[in-house]
Amino acid sequence: MEKASITIICAVCGQEFRHTRTCYNRDDATRYEDWARDNITVCPACYGKAMRAKDRAKLDAQTAEARKVIEGMEFSDLIGTEKQIALASDIRARAAAILKPCGGNAKFWERFNNITDAKWWIEHREYMSMGPRTIARYIITWIPERSPDTPC
Ligand SMILES: [Zn+2]
Repeated sequence: MEKASITIICAVCGQEFRHTRTCYNRDDATRYEDWARDNITVCPACYGKAMRAKDRAKLDAQTAEARKVIEGMEFSDLIGTEKQIALASDIRARAAAILKPCGGNAKFWERFNNITDAKWWIEHREYMSMGPRTIARYIITWIPERSPDTPC
């Protein structure tokens, strides 16, 4: 085993960073170093930042699309901090857009709307982006007694 190791200057932040990889032998390591010199141009921190920005842009586009699908639907106000409400409102909009084509009766949507705890939407965000059956199952099994709206 040989270690390929080169120093690269990040094209984004200008910081020098070390890129290493374990190779089979010196020839492989040299070949890899040559390849890496031309192809690895961004440090791990900047790469991570760029990937997160890309994910964010994708999610924003999905949210905008979802808001078009649910246009005209009324939802109750969410309860939480400003930040929680903004985040939960997007998650809920995307979930509603997934559910809308399935129909759902008034009782189902009432239940959907009764989940006003922003934290609930945030905690269930992973499930809320799954298929309509999964989302509906979580909405239906939601226990109103746990809602902060319910007295006692
Ligand atoms: Zn960088």
